[in-house]
Amino acid sequence: MKSLVWFRGDLRLDDNPALRNACENSEEVSAVFLFSPKQLSLHSEANIKVDFLIKNLVLLEKKLNDLNICLTIIESEGFSFDKGYISNLAAKNNIDKVFWNNQFGEDELHRDLQVSEALASNKINYESFDDQVVYKPGTLKTGQGNPYSVFTPFKRKWIEFFEMDFLDIDYLYQKKSKTDHISNVDAFNFNFKQTHKADMDLWPAGEEEAIARLQNFLKDKAINYSKDRNDPIIDGTSRISPYLALGIISSKRCILEALKHNNFEFSSGHIGITKWIDEIVWREFYKNIMFSFSKVSKGQPFQDYSKSIKWRFDKDEFDAWKEGKTGFPIIDAAMRQLLHEGWMHNRLRMVVAMFFTKNMLHDWRLGEEYFMQNLIDGDFASNNGGWQWSSSTGTDAAPYFRIFNPITQSTNFDKEGLFIKKYFPELKDLDKSVIHNPPTEHRKYCKYPMQILDLKESRLRAIEAFKTAKN
Ligand SMILES: Cc1cc2nc3c(=O)[nH]c(=O)nc-3n(C[C@H](O)[C@H](O)[C@H](O)COP(=O)(O)OP(=O)(O)OC[C@H]3O[C@@H](n4cnc5c(N)ncnc54)[C@H](O)[C@@H]3O)c2cc1C
Repeated sequence: MKSLVWFRGDLRLDDNPALRNACENSEEVSAVFLFSPKQLSLHSEANIKVDFLIKNLVLLEKKLNDLNICLTIIESEGFSFDKGYISNLAAKNNIDKVFWNNQFGEDELHRDLQVSEALASNKINYESFDDQVVYKPGTLKTGQGNPYSVFTPFKRKWIEFFEMDFLDIDYLYQKKSKTDHISNVDAFNFNFKQTHKADMDLWPAGEEEAIARLQNFLKDKAINYSKDRNDPIIDGTSRISPYLALGIISSKRCILEALKHNNFEFSSGHIGITKWIDEIVWREFYKNIMFSFSKVSKGQPFQDYSKSIKWRFDKDEFDAWKEGKTGFPIIDAAMRQLLHEGWMHNRLRMVVAMFFTKNMLHDWRLGEEYFMQNLIDGDFASNNGGWQWSSSTGTDAAPYFRIFNPITQSTNFDKEGLFIKKYFPELKDLDKSVIHNPPTEHRKYCKYPMQILDLKESRLRAIEAFKTAKN
């Protein structure tokens, strides 16, 4: 049999069920990736994420080549054109069967339906697999048969139905028959212009790097994860998110390796490891929300009442937030981290998102889009979930009156102000007693801006706006 593997959000060999099944069942295997700058831009994918994508494609091609699998890149006009590219390529190369791994976004599901129909009408077989999750979204249901909208019972069910066989992912690939196809990856013109200013040395490409990152985290940091994960100056989290977002590593691989370090226990043993597995399950929970509640993919809030919130818009405030000039050091340092690294610490994502949607009372969708445009790990479901959690418009979200005070957050989680100083060397001479909220004379001396808003007043304004929308 001759097979074609269509790579999308799964740029790896390890735990890749589409590739594995194609290899197990075919003599000849080829691969394709549809690269669409238009589609990437429609989904607000960050320039740094596209940079990372291209670097990973180049490495993927080499690994596939070692197995005699040739990777072809085709420039696509966007999802609605993909059916033509895939069915034409399959027909031209006499492909018997096309394999891919599922993606669960609205647009992706619609595209896959169109591709399946085009292949069926050309009498070409196809088969799809689930590589991004342990349970296919929508399969875990409440006692009433509804999709879960609260994390804790979702996770309880997730563990209850879990079987170790789900993690039967190790597989040794054998070389396939040589073909006369030649990969075009080196010659392909990605027409990529780097506009981000982040340090790419932080994010080496390739699945070996992803696995090494996972192993280093589990060996050295996971044990203290539940303690260290909230302190942004400690490199206490895995920083595996960019690799998960593009499928350079699978969540099953993450869970399996973590379980090996915890005697295969989910609920006992090392609290750091069980907490870390929880986070991987959060990722799956948000994919379920995206899949089961299509409104969140259409720019709608999960909580219907919050459609009536009268959001403000002030361009100067919006720019100050984006540029790290709000006058709140922890917010500004976090926004600088985003631009320097293309990544932001989870605690700070919550702090800046809550400041944006509560104190600034700006529409969460603007913040959500800005994050997507700048994150190397941009992932629609997690980003939407995080923004809707922070703005209290989402599922299982923070209550609207629970508003983080950025100065208290800073004092609690960046006690010595070391994170602030890392991203704001201008403030390096300030003592920890003043760095979280420098007095006016220090601000003038350090050329650091005054606060763009009053925390108390803006907090009351937000509570009032939410209360009014609720009544
Ligand atoms: C406003 C906001 C926006 C966010 N946007 C994204 C995004 O676009 N892409 C993204 O991957 N994550 C997003 N998150 C979740 C989280 O901040 C990142 O996954 C995490 O910071 C990545 O760092 P890490 O790999 O070191 O995480 P670790 O702490 O090591 O966790 C391991 C993995 O678990 C998953 N995870 C951890 N926390 C969460 C969470 N709260 N929700 C869902 N999955 C989680 C991630 O895949 C992460 O890589 C967002 C959170 C907020 C509050």
